[in-house]
Order: sequence, then structure tokens, then C-alpha cells
Amino acid sequence: MFNIGGSAQYIVLSDKYTRYNAWNKLADACLLITQNERLIALDEIGSILGVSIPDRPSQEFRAITWDQLGQLDPELIEIGSHTCSHPILKKCSESELENELTQSKNTIESELGRKVVSFCYPNGQISDYNPSVMQAVQKAGYTNAVVAHGTLVEANANRFALERISAPHNNQFFQYMIDSRPYLSQQKKSLIGSK
Ligand SMILES: [Zn+2]
Repeated sequence: MFNIGGSAQYIVLSDKYTRYNAWNKLADACLLITQNERLIALDEIGSILGVSIPDRPSQEFRAITWDQLGQLDPELIEIGSHTCSHPILKKCSESELENELTQSKNTIESELGRKVVSFCYPNGQISDYNPSVMQAVQKAGYTNAVVAHGTLVEANANRFALERISAPHNNQFFQYMIDSRPYLSQQKKSLIGSK
């Protein structure tokens, strides 16, 4: 049992399936708490399970390197920002919000020598951002931001809440999603209908 930001989380770690479920459950619980509470929760998980959590991910889990990012053709691939520590921005103080938005942008720009104009809200669900977060994104110098819900960007879309389709691991399914506009429009109508 873990205490994540004041709520008890029970998990089972008996096989691959339960371990996967445990990860989902703990990760979801961590999305609802502040950055500070998250660090405390991670410490507690580590100490209960008897593992020390490294400051940086091991080779197996490390992120793409600056060098690898620099090799991506800027004509084809744009590098945007997703904050420094992936907090739920609506829960950040004004100064935390500003730091997350500007530090990530400045770091990418100085490491890659490319201008960063696009932003992606951490977690990106409707409950994760609000008009003041969107305003702060604009003030930090971004020209657009994407969310993690919805399907199609329409002509009158808000540039700071552009809907997007995530790329699944299966390439064929991705192809199907981007080729299936009637299907996507239908999905969109049902989403709007359910609001
Ligand atoms: Zn993310």
C-alpha cells in the first residue's frame, strides 16, 4: 500500500500483468498531485520496495540525446517544449508556471540552435489546463500549443488548444486513423455531443 498525496493506493506485483497495472495506477495517482507531493511519493515507493531511484534514468530508459535530436531534419520534424518536470500546469504557482514554460524553451533553443514555438501541455486533458495557463504559454513566446484529446483541428480552432491524434505503436493503425476522416469526424461529433 502506498500513500500518494494523501490517498491510499493498493497494488499487486505478482506477475507482468499486475506490475503493468500497478505502474498505471501509481502513474495516474501521481498526475493528480503537486510536484512536491510527487517527489515525496516516489521516495516512499522506493523505500517500501527497497529500491533506490536514480537521479537520472538508466541507459535503458534514458531520453533521446541532444545529439540525436540535432540530427532530425528541421524541415521535417519540429521540436517543441513539454515543460521541464511534467507538472500539471493548472496546479502550479505563477512562478513555477513561468519557469516550466521558459526554462524548457530556452534550454531546447540553446542546445539545438532552433527556435521553439510549439508547446504541449503535460497530460493534456481538459482538466489539466485553463485560460490562465493558455495565456502564460502565449506570454512565454509560444505561437501554439497542443492538447492530448480530440481528433481534428478545425478552421476556427484556438491556437493554444490544438487537438491532436497520438501516434500508436502500430503503424497500420496510425495510417488508418489519419486516413479515416469520416471516422474521426464521427468521433468528434460524439465527443462534442457528450459535453
Ligand atoms: Zn507528457
